[in-house]
Amino acid sequence: MRAPRVGFIGLGAMGMGMARNLHAAGWLSIVWNRTRERAVALAGELGVAVAHEPTALARAAECIVTSVSRDADLAAVVEALLPGLIPGTVVCDTSTVGADTARAWSRRLAERGAHFLDCPVSGGAEGARTGRLAMMVGGEAEVLEQVRGPLSAMAATIVHMGPSGSGQATKAVNQIMAAGIAEAVTEALAFGVLMGLPMDKVIEVVSQGAAANWFLSHRGRSMLEDLFVPGFKVSLHHKDLLICREMAAAAGGMGLPVVEMTLGDYGRLMDEGHGEEDISALIRIKRAPEGQLI
Ligand code: NAP
Repeated sequence: MRAPRVGFIGLGAMGMGMARNLHAAGWLSIVWNRTRERAVALAGELGVAVAHEPTALARAAECIVTSVSRDADLAAVVEALLPGLIPGTVVCDTSTVGADTARAWSRRLAERGAHFLDCPVSGGAEGARTGRLAMMVGGEAEVLEQVRGPLSAMAATIVHMGPSGSGQATKAVNQIMAAGIAEAVTEALAFGVLMGLPMDKVIEVVSQGAAANWFLSHRGRSMLEDLFVPGFKVSLHHKDLLICREMAAAAGGMGLPVVEMTLGDYGRLMDEGHGEEDISALIRIKRAPEGQLI
């Protein structure tokens, strides 16, 4: 197969960085975004084409990368691609959705002679911008090899996890861990403030010890300054944790206390109008006097 022309759909916090890196590596030919102005602005800057609709993008690309919010949004986009899909096309979905959703799209695209890989990513908007995401891939290994070139422009680590859906199951593992880390870091930093400690120094020294982690290094200082620009929206992580809960139930069930606690806290933030803030806004709850949210 000759080098695939790549189309990109979904120019949000993650998609913008990924599309730019695809362009920098010479892969990107065409983009589409629901809010058209974002696509027009990026295409103008990079000198690539803008599709008027997803079908047109499907007719112009053999590798299509998607980055949209939820399962229903992915369905809307892939349904719209179907009429234009070239046989042999590989759709690489980097959104976080359910493993069942990935499996269903894989079967549906196979009926059309095309392929679907679940390619969820971790590393935040920073990882998307720098091209250093970690990507966990579900689907056929040979199909992954066909698109490894473009995927490598976005991700420094690409691991084939197994059949369709196993990329999303791995991402669910990641999201449960991220929930526990967000709960722990926000609580610990709120405690440090209560102790009257010099928090810059706290972050500096703790970041070099056994409790070091990405969230502390990348969001510690900004959350202490009340800056909650996403990053990763509370409402999106809430969506991911609902997926984790459903996946556990479908597999026979297990207690997920970290997931349940974080769902409760995110629910509270969303009720108070903070759902579009970065997940570091969790510190609002931790530092609040009991019963209040500031
Ligand atoms: P975002 O900034 O909210 O962007 C969402 C993108 O999806 C936008 O381009 C939006 O288009 C598009 N979209 C949403 N619904 C759509 C629909 N029905 N039809 C067509 N396009 C639609 O979200 P993000 O942070 O980039 O996250 C994207 C995905 O990556 C999510 O599944 C998220 O869970 C996952 N993720 C996020 C991070 C992170 O740190 N942010 C990290 C790893 C994975 P408009 O411009 O028109 O709104």
